[in-house]
Amino acid sequence: MTARVLVVDDVPANVKLLEARLSEYFDVVTAGSGLQALSICERADCDLVLLDVMMPDMDGFEVCRRLKSNIATHHIPVVMVTALDQPTDRVRGLEAGADDFITKPIPELALIARVKSLARLKMVTDELRMRVLTSREIGIQSPEREAIADSGRGGKVLIVDDRAASYERLAAVLRQEQEVAVEPDPNQALFHAADANYDLVIVSLGLENFDALRLCSQLRSLERTRSLPILGVAEPDATARMVRGLEIGVNDYLMRPVDKNELLARARTQVRRRRYTERLRDSVQMSIEMAITDALTGLFNRRYMESHLGTLIEQAAARGKALSVLVLDIDYFKAINDSHGHDAGDDVLREFALRIKRSIRGIDLACRYGGEEFVIVMPETDMAVAAMVAERLRRRIAAEPFAIAQGARQIPVTISIGIAGLRGKEDTAATLLKRADQALYRAKRDGRNRVVPDAA
Ligand code: GH3
Ligand code: MG
Ligand code: MG
Repeated sequence: MTARVLVVDDVPANVKLLEARLSEYFDVVTAGSGLQALSICERADCDLVLLDVMMPDMDGFEVCRRLKSNIATHHIPVVMVTALDQPTDRVRGLEAGADDFITKPIPELALIARVKSLARLKMVTDELRMRVLTSREIGIQSPEREAIADSGRGGKVLIVDDRAASYERLAAVLRQEQEVAVEPDPNQALFHAADANYDLVIVSLGLENFDALRLCSQLRSLERTRSLPILGVAEPDATARMVRGLEIGVNDYLMRPVDKNELLARARTQVRRRRYTERLRDSVQMSIEMAITDALTGLFNRRYMESHLGTLIEQAAARGKALSVLVLDIDYFKAINDSHGHDAGDDVLREFALRIKRSIRGIDLACRYGGEEFVIVMPETDMAVAAMVAERLRRRIAAEPFAIAQGARQIPVTISIGIAGLRGKEDTAATLLKRADQALYRAKRDGRNRVVPDAA
């Protein structure tokens, strides 16, 4: 997919120039003022903004600040473009939330590498953002809000540098805001980075006895460190090397001599972004779990079971294997609620789920079907074996009373189970479950606390 880049400059000639250079690689959109840029970013999906600093009405710093404090646009990478090359300007831009800074006249190679690397990163974030939508709809958390409030301080930073004079200085500066560790042996750096949970690794690209770029690409290919941001520290006029670094996945770089405030600002940006992606990942993980599991018992929920049972049935039919389902229902559960309270009822449901988990194999699928009714799907299991499993479970429930009220009391619980096995090719999830349910009904009718197989 081609990234879409928004070029913002009040001088039409500058816009044209950048557009010409970039359009070979990217979709280019243009804006002649800060306000226009803001409205384009809110409407269209831009993957990166190249932002002129000096503009009438609203300057680039302000535009950047607004983009970065708006939930709808804060994740779009911003590269500031300026004629000035003062560290103070760079720091001002970074403090406004800019992801990078490029000075005019713009070096073409560096520009393309930079834009590509930031656009790539944004696509990863977009993917996560999309998947996280469900959890946002439920309203459990907002990674965006947390990211906007994040100062980028207090991160865990690893410096990889084999020259003491250099790493001592970098570490001393960074310790003002970050938690810093130093790895002076590049041979150990990969393991070191993979071992602890760092938010950022700073690699000196001019290591004396080791190819630093090779280390960077190893960091990128190792599962544990794949998404760990890398900030490269480049020797003066090592532009080609820096571009190569960006291509293999270095996220950002600094040129020596390192400006103290720029180092701090770039580290903050990377730490903040790292935490944002981690939050997105957590929340994707959580929404996946919430979508398929039952909150009270931790078993799979009905929706997941129903969608998955169809697949398991198809597999069994295709391979000519058996498959059985158990439908389990707690006896007189309403009476437990009535005499001991709803919380005690919940305790019983949780404990029951635990006993189910301990009684089944890894390939069996246990789910809470609703209320006090549960379903266990057992692939590669015929009715006879299923009946043995069911009987063992029934006995385990009846034999040992359930603790309620934090263990203060114990109450007897029994269950009834109906079993059905997969028959011919016409059998579906619905017909199979229905037969198991009918068997369960007979178990209830015949006195409860028993296992009844579907009479074929
Ligand atoms: P039977 O032996 O015929 O199955 O009788 P029963 O009382 O177990 O069945 P019935 O369907 O009459 O009642 C089920 C009760 O389960 C009613 C409902 O309030 C209760 N229940 C459903 N979900 C929950 C829950 O999440 N927590 C608690 N504590 N109770 C629940
Ligand atoms: Mg019941
Ligand atoms: Mg019931």
